[in-house]
Formats: sequence, structure tokens, C-alpha cells
Amino acid sequence: ILEERCQRILQDMEGSLTARDRVGIQDFVLLDAYTSETAFMDNLRKRFNENLIYTYIGTLLVSVNPYKELGIYTKKQMDIYMGVNFFELPPHIFALADNVYRTMISETNNHFILISGESGAGKTEASKTVLQFYAVCCPSTRLLDNVRDRLLLSNPVLEAFGNAKTLKNDNSSRFGKYMDIQFDHQGAAVGGHILSYLLEKSRVVHQNRGERNFHIFYQLVEGGEDELLRRLGLERNCQKYRYLIQGECAKVSSINDKSDWKTVQKALTIIEFSEKDIEHLFAIIASVLHLGNVHFEASAHGYATLNSSAELLGIPLNMLQEGLTHRKIEAKAEEVLSPFTAEHAKYARDALAKAIYGRTFSWLVNKINESLANKDSTRKTVIGLLDIYGFEVFDVNSFEQFCINFCNEKLQQLFIQLTLKSEQEEYEMEGIEWEPVPYFNNKIICDLVEEKHRGIISILDEECLRPGEATDFTFLEKLEEKMCGHPHFVTHKLADQKTRKTLERGDFRLLHYAGEVTYSVVGFLDKNNDLLYRNIKEVRGFTTVSLSLHTSDHFDDVMVRHQVKYLGLMEHLRVRRAGFAYRRRYEVFLKRYKALCPDTWPHWKGTPAEGVQRLIKHLGYKPDEYKMGRTKIFIRHPRTLFATEDAFEI
Ligand code: ATP
Ligand code: MG
Repeated sequence: ILEERCQRILQDMEGSLTARDRVGIQDFVLLDAYTSETAFMDNLRKRFNENLIYTYIGTLLVSVNPYKELGIYTKKQMDIYMGVNFFELPPHIFALADNVYRTMISETNNHFILISGESGAGKTEASKTVLQFYAVCCPSTRLLDNVRDRLLLSNPVLEAFGNAKTLKNDNSSRFGKYMDIQFDHQGAAVGGHILSYLLEKSRVVHQNRGERNFHIFYQLVEGGEDELLRRLGLERNCQKYRYLIQGECAKVSSINDKSDWKTVQKALTIIEFSEKDIEHLFAIIASVLHLGNVHFEASAHGYATLNSSAELLGIPLNMLQEGLTHRKIEAKAEEVLSPFTAEHAKYARDALAKAIYGRTFSWLVNKINESLANKDSTRKTVIGLLDIYGFEVFDVNSFEQFCINFCNEKLQQLFIQLTLKSEQEEYEMEGIEWEPVPYFNNKIICDLVEEKHRGIISILDEECLRPGEATDFTFLEKLEEKMCGHPHFVTHKLADQKTRKTLERGDFRLLHYAGEVTYSVVGFLDKNNDLLYRNIKEVRGFTTVSLSLHTSDHFDDVMVRHQVKYLGLMEHLRVRRAGFAYRRRYEVFLKRYKALCPDTWPHWKGTPAEGVQRLIKHLGYKPDEYKMGRTKIFIRHPRTLFATEDAFEI
């Protein structure tokens, strides 16, 4: 019998060894060669090849986009992960969501989940999965089912109006989104609030080749009912609308505009948009399409056919016509109308279309917020979900990419502060012995962009205050003058020394944390003024379509390595590996667990630190499992704590 058992144990061991060999390690902290990027990549690749897209670095979750359905987001999977300790099951986004939720409940404090990665990495999908988990797993009542449905359905609506096909992602978020999910003291989702940032309005009037306008336009034209289209004066043919065809890809195989239209309609009704709201909303969307087709001829007075737009917007035709073709000049208490050139008129038309769309989007977010608002004034705890558009590099990058990439730069800074920096500072403050881990702090780049009076944004704002004198090129000259010598800023004058790549005259290059990006200054002033660029084609006409192929079952080594590097994952791993997963103030720790030790229960007379010392001695903590700081106990591995929690529950 003994021989048989030994045999079986040996087989099991072999089995688990080969399994480990095959599926890799589920927490990078356990990786032997934890400082080697190659070992890190090997582990990710191994797991990816087994369809295991999630891996931890301690409590941080790393996810690789599989670009295929894995069947891992089912209700059955949710049940498996619900209420189970973080490290007891294979890594999963449900484990993370569950852990955050339970910590929020037990500690009654707010949490937030920050999702970062390049465009197409899977941020939006991840945020939807988390929301889905809460919607299904949190306690609910019939009354709250409403809130839950609205929370879930806000997504297809916002994506229809705020997402678009880009070269990187067929459903790319073109706005940043921060969503609060509010929970009551029983842990039920009772409300929500959405903040949107920086909608890329310029997309309404111009798209690069291979890109589309916002989904909603195509959904309306493809999916709108005959009667609706007739009322809006629209034809069922995207090719008829100038604003829809500049990217030359109105139809995309991965997108079904018709069925998406139905989903959005249903969602709007459930979020309780009234029929009137919906009617107005699409009248405005249609008016934008009509505006795009308005044609101006070069004549002394300008000429426009604007009937449809004026009608749909509910404004007198002559007012709209005048507004787009004339400038009002006030002279000696008198108003004089001076005609625009055709070029100016086009510019005014695009500016109007962009402004209308931007306001409609804000209105939409407000309406959704009204419907998600929780009127009950009792204190709520919240879980915040941040999903912004990812870092972007195109062949030609303009003001929009500058804003997006700066946003990501700030996010990275926040991430560094919340993890690497504060972690290390805390060890220092608490007097825990610690070998500091060097990491790249991107604050220097954030300052380069946003520093008061000296940063790029300040200089741009100053130039915008000199209308008539300043141009994009004077702006660039000022940048050259003020930023000269900055290690993360390059213009054509300095290009070769730093990056050995040539730069065009109108360009500047920033060495972002995520890589270098060359920006064309053309249009910066206008766009910063929230106006539109004069001749968009001249600016961007030479953009080449870089094919971005996303294939499932293919691990893109270069892309993954790039992100591992720039998300600072190796640094995170080093900090986690050397660090402590869990820490608590002595009083809090003692209060929670004192019942586990006869010496500390029911009252401990000495200091909390001494009490904790006595308590963990009784629990049998080994010396390398914990450290005592000035005010807190630090526990190296969550397993130790889970064992304590289990003992407590028994
Ligand atoms: P952007 O910054 O452009 O908004 P993103 O990081 O939000 O990009 P997503 O839109 O979430 O990227 O993902 C892009 C596409 O990748 C999705 O439309 C989907 O096809 C696929 N995808 C993402 N995550 C997953 C996943 N977990 N499983 C299967 N496919 C996924
Ligand atoms: Mg997204």
C-alpha cells in the first residue's frame, strides 16, 4: 500500500511539474528569475498559449488580449470566484472585482480600479466585465434591478456616441470615462455616476483613412427605420454623407451597425429617455450629417443650402445661413455683417458640427447620470472604474494624440504614486528595512507638458492669446527656445543628437514613458482654441494606412514586450517581490483578531503593538512572514493572512 501511495505522490508531483512547465506561474512574484524580462515574457507566452490570459503580480492583474471568445465570463465562472480568497483560484478579473468588493464592504471605504494599456489592449472590455460581475453577483431587489440594468446599458449608448473604428481598434474609445458604482451598506448596487473626458470632437468632421466617424452615425443610416430616415431627410446610404466617408471604410466586417442600432434603441428606452428626447437626439445627429453636406461656393456673399439642418435644429434658415457665411463686426454701436470667404464658411460649418456633437454628448452623459442617480441620502461606498483611451502613435500625430498621450502620462504618474512610490515611502516611514527599487518616474514628462508658466500647455495658451500674430510655427519656435536641452523634448534642430531620427520642420517629438511620439504642430493653436483646422486635408492627407492585424492565437512578442516595459511591470514585480502584500495599523489588526488568542481577549492592557506581537506568536507566524513597523504590522504573503481569517471564521 505504501509503495502504491508513494508512486501516486510521485506521479502527482510529476504532473504538477509538467503542468507548471506548461501553463507557467500564475503569480509573477513566485517566478525564480524575477528580474529577467525574458523569463517574464516566457511566462506570459506560455500562459497565453494555454488560453490563460491573466497573471498576477501580487494584487496587480496583468491581462493579454486574446482577441477571441474564451468562455471565461459566464455566470458559472462568476459563482466560482464569488467570495473566494484572491489567491485560491487561478487569476481572473472576477477575482480582482470580488476582492475589491469584499474589501469595500468589510472596511466601508471607497476603492477604484484603474485600467491602463495601449489602444486595443482590452481596457473597455475589462471595465465592462467588472461591471457585469457586480451586476450579477451583488445582492439585489426588484427595485434595484432597474439600477443594475441602467448601469449595464449605459455602456452600449456611450460606446455608440463615443467610440469609433480607428486603425488600432474597431471599437476604440474616443473619450475618457470614469464611472462610480455606488453601493449601500448591504453591498447592493444602488446608483452610479459617469464622468466623461475629452471627447475627440474633431472626428465628427474628419477621419483618417481606414477610420470611421462615431458609430452612431452609421447605426442611424444603416439601422434607422424607414419612417425615421424619411422624417430626418436621410438616405440609407453612408456614401452620401461627407462626414462619413473620409476614412473610406464606412462598412467594417466586425461591426453590425444594424443590430447595434437596435441595442442602442432598447438601451435608451430602459435608461428612460422619453420619446421626445430620442426624437430630438436623432434630429440633432441627422442635422450634423446634413451640415457636412452643405456646400459653399466662392462668391461675394457666400451661398449655402441649409434647409434640412436648420429644420432639424429648429432654427430659422436665414439665421443659420447668416451665421455660417458672415462675420458680425461691431463698429460704433452698429453691427455690420462682413461676408466670409468660402473657405471660412466651411471652417465655420465644421466648427458648428463639432460643437453640436460635443454638446449632445455632454447632454447624453447628463441624462444617463440623472437616470443612475440615487436619491437616497444615506452614506454610500463606491467602486470607481477608470477607462480612458490608450496611448496612441500614428504616422502623423496631432493635437488629439498630444492630449490623449498626456492623459496616459498622467495616469501612469498616478499609478506610480499609488504603487511604487507610496509603497516605498511607507516602508521608509515605518522603519522597515528595505532595499530601494529604482524605477523610471515619468513626472519629468508630466512637468514638461503641464508645468505652470513653463510647460507646453502654458506656452500654447499664451500663443492663443495673441490672435493675428501667433501661428503654429511661432508656437513651435517658443517651444524650441524654452524647452531646449530638455531630455524628453526634441525638434528638428536637435533631432539627430538624441534619437538619430530626422524630424520635419513643423514637428516636435516627445519622449513619452511609453515611447517616442512625433507631433505635427499644424493645427495646435486652432484646436486649443476649440476651433477647427482650416484645411484638414492638407494637414493629414498624407497619412498612410498602417495595417493593424489582430489575430487570435498569436502572441505578438514585440507588442507585448513593449507594454511590459512601459507599464513598468518589471519594476512592479521587483517592488512586490521585496515587499509586503498586507499591512494594518496595530489597533485595527488587534481589534479584528484579538479573539484568536486568550492573552488578548477580551481586553489587552498593553500597547497595541505588544498585543499584536503576542497574538501572532500565538498564531505561529514565522519570522520571515511579517515585519513590525512603527505603527503597522506588515505581512509578506496574503496566504498568511487568509489562514488567520479562516481561523477567525472557525
Ligand atoms: P482603446 O484605448 O482604443 O479604447 P481598449 O483598450 O479599450 O482600446 P477594447 O476595446 O477593450 O480595447 O478591446 C479591443 C478588442 O479586443 C475588443 O473589441 C475585443 O474584440 C477584443 N478583446 C478585448 N478584451 C478581450 C477579452 N478579454 N476576451 C476576448 N476579446 C477581447
Ligand atoms: Mg476603450
